[in-house]
Order: sequence, then C-alpha cells, then structure tokens
Amino acid sequence: MDSSNPKFLEVTSAVDNFDNQGDLIRSLKREIKTLKSKVITQDIRIFEMQALLQSGKGLSNIMNLSQLLDTFMAVIRERYDVVNSSVLLREDFENGEKEFFQVKRYCSLDDHYIDMVGRREPLFLFRIEKNNGLLWQLIQQGSVFSVRDLQKEPRFVTAWEKLNLDILRSDFWCPLIKSGEVIGILTLGERRDGTQVTESEYAFVQELASIAATVIDSTLKYEKNQRILNNIQILYDVHQELSTINDFKDLCKETIRNAVRAVKAQKGNLMLLNRTSGKLELVVAWGYIDESVLDGLNSGKIETKAFEIGEGIAGTAALQRKPIVVNNRDNIPQMGSFETYCISSIPVINGGQLEGVMNFTNKVHLEKDGSAVLDTLGRFTREDVSLLQGIADQSAVSLHKSRLYSASITDRLTGLHNSRYFEDTYYEFAAKAAVENKPLTLAVLDIDHFKNFNDRYGHKAGDYILKSVASMFIEVKRPFKRDNSYRYGGEEFCMVMPETTAEEAFEIFEEYRKRLDKTEFEYEGQKLKVTVSIGLAQMGLHSSDARVLFNLADDALYECKRNGRNRVQLAKMEVAGENSSPMGSDEATGSEKKVG
Ligand code: GH3
Ligand code: MG
Ligand code: MG
Repeated sequence: MDSSNPKFLEVTSAVDNFDNQGDLIRSLKREIKTLKSKVITQDIRIFEMQALLQSGKGLSNIMNLSQLLDTFMAVIRERYDVVNSSVLLREDFENGEKEFFQVKRYCSLDDHYIDMVGRREPLFLFRIEKNNGLLWQLIQQGSVFSVRDLQKEPRFVTAWEKLNLDILRSDFWCPLIKSGEVIGILTLGERRDGTQVTESEYAFVQELASIAATVIDSTLKYEKNQRILNNIQILYDVHQELSTINDFKDLCKETIRNAVRAVKAQKGNLMLLNRTSGKLELVVAWGYIDESVLDGLNSGKIETKAFEIGEGIAGTAALQRKPIVVNNRDNIPQMGSFETYCISSIPVINGGQLEGVMNFTNKVHLEKDGSAVLDTLGRFTREDVSLLQGIADQSAVSLHKSRLYSASITDRLTGLHNSRYFEDTYYEFAAKAAVENKPLTLAVLDIDHFKNFNDRYGHKAGDYILKSVASMFIEVKRPFKRDNSYRYGGEEFCMVMPETTAEEAFEIFEEYRKRLDKTEFEYEGQKLKVTVSIGLAQMGLHSSDARVLFNLADDALYECKRNGRNRVQLAKMEVAGENSSPMGSDEATGSEKKVG
C-alpha cells in the first residue's frame, strides 16, 4: 500500500494511537502499583502509629514501676514475636562505685545466674557497670542496635565476657533515654522462629522506648515522692512518740525500734560514745530476730564488741561524721552466724558533739501477719539513709538531754540509780501501788562486815566488790517488771519491786544471796568473798505508809545482822507484837569467818 494513501495514514495513526494508549495504560498500571504499595506502607505505618499511640497511652496510665516495665516489654515482645526480654535500670550508686544498671524486670530468662566467682545469685542482682568501651558508646547514642552479628556471635566480645552478658540471652538492645541521659536498657532476644529482627524494623521499639523512658522516669519520681512523703510522716510520728519518753534506756530502745521499722531493716542497734573509754558501746538493739538474742544483747548477757572511733563501719561513720552504707555484700566483713547483705551506720550528732552511732543490717519484707522475711535483694537506699539521718538528728537532742539526766540519777561506781533518784521515785511507786491496791515490795541490802573487808584487802578491792555485788543485784531485776535498783548508801543497795509480794521477793533474794555466797570474785590474783543481809517489807501487808515501810525493811535488815548476817529477812508487821514474820533464812554462817 502506498504510504501516502489516506487509508494507510488513517490505519497507521490508529496503530500509533493504540501503541501510545498501551504505554499510557502500562504507565498508569505502574503508577497504580506504586500507589498501592504506598497505601500499604502507609496503612502499616498508620497501624503502627495507632499501636504506638495506644501502647504509649497504656504505658502512661500505669503508675507502678514493675507493672509498667512488664507491659512495656510485653508490647515489644508481641510486636516482634520475641521470646525473652529484660529491662535494666540505672541504680543509685554509692561513693566510689561506678555507675551501674541492674535488672529490674525480665521475661523468659532464668531466675538465677552464676556470677564471676561462681555464686548462684537471683537475676535481679545482675548488673552491668558503665565503662568507656564501644558498647557504652553505642548505648549513649540512644539508638536501637544489635548485639549479635549475622552469625549470632557477640559483636562486643570484650564487654560480653567482662560483663557476663550471655546471661541476658539478648539479640538487640534499646537504650532508654530521658533528657539525654541513659536511664535504662531494654534487651530483647531472638524471634520465636529463630530469625533476627532487622534494622528496618527498629522504628517501633525506638519510638515506644522514648515514650516508655519518659513514663519510667516519672514513675520513678512519683514512687520516690511517695516514699519521701511517707518518710516525712514517719519522722513526724517518731518525733511525737519520742517526745513523751523520759527514761534514757526507753528512749534509746524506742529510737532504734522506730528506725528499724521505718526502713524495714532486719536489725539495728544504738551505740553511744563512752566518754571515759572513748569507745562506742552498744546500748540497745532491736530487730526482727530471735527475742532471746535481743534480750541477751539488751541485758548485756551477750557481750558485744566496743568499737574505737575509726574502727569498722560504725567507727568510720563516727570518725567521718557522715552516714556509711555498704550494699555490696563482698565489701562487708561477715561476723557471727548471721549473713549480712547490706549495712548502714548513721552518726548521732548533737550540736557538733558525737553522741553515738546507729547501725542497721539487712532488709526485710513485712508479711501481712506482721512477720518479717529476710530480703536478700534489699539494699539501703538514699532515701533510707536520709530518713535514718533524720531520726538520728531528732533523737540526738533527746539522747543528749536524757544522757545528762541519766548521769545525774546514776551512781558512777555501780551503775545503779543513786539515792537522790530513790527519794524521787520510791514514794511515787508506793503511792501508785496504794492507789491501784497492788502489792509492792521494798528490799534493802547491806554488805556484811564490809569495813573489815576494806581494812583487809584495801579500798580498791572494796570498790571492785561493790561493783560486782551490784551487777549481780541488777540481774535480779526481772524483764518486763518495773523493778528499780538503787545504791542507797556506801555499801547499801535497795530495790523497789512493783506488783510483787514479799514472799515472791523472798524467793528471789534467797536465790541471789545463795548465789553470792557461792561466788568467789577474782581481784589481782586474790579470791574474794562477801555475803549480804537483806530485809524485805511489803506495802499494804507490813505497812501502808511508805516511810514506815522503809524503816520496817531496814529493821528486818538489822534483824539479819543480829542473827548472824548472810540472811534474808521479812519485816515484822507495823503493829509490834507477836505477828512477826515466820520466814527467815537460817544459814547464818557469819561472814566474819570469810573476810576477817
Ligand atoms: P555490817 O555487816 O554490820 O554492815 O558491817 P559493816 O562493816 O559493813 O558496816 P559499817 O557500816 O560499819 O561499814 C560500812 C563500810 O563500807 C565502811 C566503808 O569503809 C565501806 N564503804 C562505804 N562506801 C564504800 C565505797 O564506796 N568503797 C569502798 N571500798 N568501801 C566503802
Ligand atoms: Mg552499812
Ligand atoms: Mg555493812
């Protein structure tokens, strides 16, 4: 056909047109395809954004840290179909310690791990210390990164070995950054199908982690504020409680009891500075431990070490005049059968003067029934320390005043109350017994032939005996009874025993007298012995007048002397006559034979 033929031209143009349209259709198709894939990507993106938004919202509604971390990990695990995960958070670190991150929550990891020295420890104790290595450089950058290469070998071999990172069984990490600071790390393991999450998929975790970091930070602050508020309340309560106590020993006991309870320590004690020896001596202990141990410590039956200033943790706190905390078990000298996990010593300072030190060991969980279970993961936090310091500061003034008062009513040689305090208290006790119509017994004691003793062995030996007889006398006091012992005169002691009949007191003092009679005191290579005479009178039975009662007890004492000494004797009734007491020990051996 001729190419100029109009029919030919028409056909050719139609074909051309058709070809053009085909191109158009193909290009249209391509565009539709691209658009479609864009729509799909956007749909996924929208879905992810929605999921993120929902997850973020979900997270910000949780104000409990453990719950928050669990939810955060669960969302991420579900999104990536990852099996295990953990969150490590930055912890308060002590002076001299490196900044470190410790496992706070985890999922599908072993509950225990073997540490570098072969100990099996709970995973919650697993921590990684910050250093200047490559791994930390990456963490500080804040982006998600894989910690294993395509062969699943660790990328940071040095850190891996040094920090024992196999334990976390992780594949990729996401730093948790708040205001440019790393506050934690999220670690994630492999997917359930054994594949690794690729870099192109990191966006979701990256975004959610930044929301989570903010929420974690505010939750931590919220919880901290709650604790601070609670601590202020405790301080107020302690102040109220302590301000009503006058007795020095009670004040010490209540101070330490309040402090132990406030920080949920397992046990605590108060050591006061003995200004004569310059050492810190235990005054009182309290805690969630065996009552008999506490009784032993508080009565002095269990001997405790006195610390020099600067010696041990307590001595160091006293020397430096600042609290010392050791939460790392490896740095605590282990003594006795109790394992010590954490310890803190708080100096008690009044107006720049060291009064003593309060020491606390271990933490407990308190169960609903009030019982305490040792918390081996517990540590003394900064808030604990500031609370304890608050209690120490509060008690310092009262302890100081109380110590002065205590000194003014205590006999220096024997440690018994002095006669002034006897005058102050005896009539009060007697009046109370009369009002309550309860028995009260007064015992007066005198060392037999003590003048001869002094003449023979010297005054110093005499002082030593006075102290020894007094400390055995103090032991007569019964726990939970309000027995009060006094040095009434030179070698004369007395004891006021509320809610006690003369007959009960007789049993108690007979035992004491016999024990003393059998005791040989060692003094500068000499074996020394003394005996005592004791008179007893009961309020309401022998007399209802406190003054008369005292004279009756004293009369009974002289009756002992007349009858040969080394005896216990009940008073005669106030109305003189036949009704003298039938009781009286008859081992009148006469102490002259022993001392003179
Ligand atoms: P009796 O059995 O009759 O009580 O005889 P006694 O020698 O104990 O009685 P007396 O009251 O004559 O003597 C008490 C002595 O106690 C006189 C004094 O030397 C001694 N004494 C008093 N206070 C102290 C003291 O603080 N230290 C020493 N070493 N002796 C003291
Ligand atoms: Mg005397
Ligand atoms: Mg005497």
